[in-house]
Amino acid sequence: MSDSNSSNKRASNDSEEPTCQKKARTFSDDGAPVESEPVTILAGESEDKFFVHAHLLELSSGFFQKALNKEWKEGQERVVRLPNVDVDVFRIYAKWLYTGRFHCLDGSTDVKLLACDELGNFLHAPDFLDAFVDVILEQTAQLGTPTFLSSSIYPRSVKDSLHRKLCRDLVVYRWGYRNFDTLRSHAIPREFLEDVLLDMKRNFDQGVTRLSFSRFIKDKDACYYHEHTRLNTPCYKTKYGI
Ligand SMILES: [Zn+2]
Repeated sequence: MSDSNSSNKRASNDSEEPTCQKKARTFSDDGAPVESEPVTILAGESEDKFFVHAHLLELSSGFFQKALNKEWKEGQERVVRLPNVDVDVFRIYAKWLYTGRFHCLDGSTDVKLLACDELGNFLHAPDFLDAFVDVILEQTAQLGTPTFLSSSIYPRSVKDSLHRKLCRDLVVYRWGYRNFDTLRSHAIPREFLEDVLLDMKRNFDQGVTRLSFSRFIKDKDACYYHEHTRLNTPCYKTKYGI
C-alpha cells in the first residue's frame, strides 16, 4: 500500500512540475522564425529607426504584408516610412511583436494606449488589438473602469465585435454614477449609447446589478473578449506561449 501511495505521489508530483520547467523546452518549429532579414521602419516625422524582422511584421499586420511585397518600392528597399505614427506607440507595437506583451508600464497615458488601438487598426493587426483589450482589462482591474474606450473602439470595429462588447460590459456591469456623468464630457458614439441602453434594459429585467471586478471577470475565459474567437483564428497568447 505504501508503494502504491508513493507511486501515486510521484505521479502527482510529476504532474505538478513547475510551469517554468515545462516551458524550458519546446518544438523546433515553435516560436518565431529567425531566418528573415530585418526591415527598417522610420516612425514619426523624426523618422526614428526601428529594425524589425520581416516575418513578424507580415504575420501580424495586413498593412505590412502588402507593404513588404517585392512588387512595392518598400518591399524592394526594405524600408517603410510611417510619418503619422507616434514613435512611442510604434515602440510598444514593435516590442509586442517580440514578446507578446505591452511594454507600457512607464507612465504611458490613456492617450498612448488609445493610439495603440488606432495603430492596430491602421496596420490591420488583429492580434495586437486583442492584446490591447487585455491591457485594458488589466488596467481596469488596477485603476478602475475607463471612460474613453468607446470613442476609440466603436468607430473602428464591426457591429458584432467582441471589443465593442467589452466597451459595453465595462459600462453596464462596472460603471458607477460618477462614470455616467462623464458621458457629457466625452465624444461618445451614439451607436454605443444605444447599445448600452439595450444591454442595461436586459440587465434590469434580469435583476443584474453592478459587479465587483472579480465577479465581473469570474467565469470569463482569457479569450472572452478576443476577436479571434469570432474570426476562428488562433490566439496571440498561444503564439507567444503566454
Ligand atoms: Zn485569445
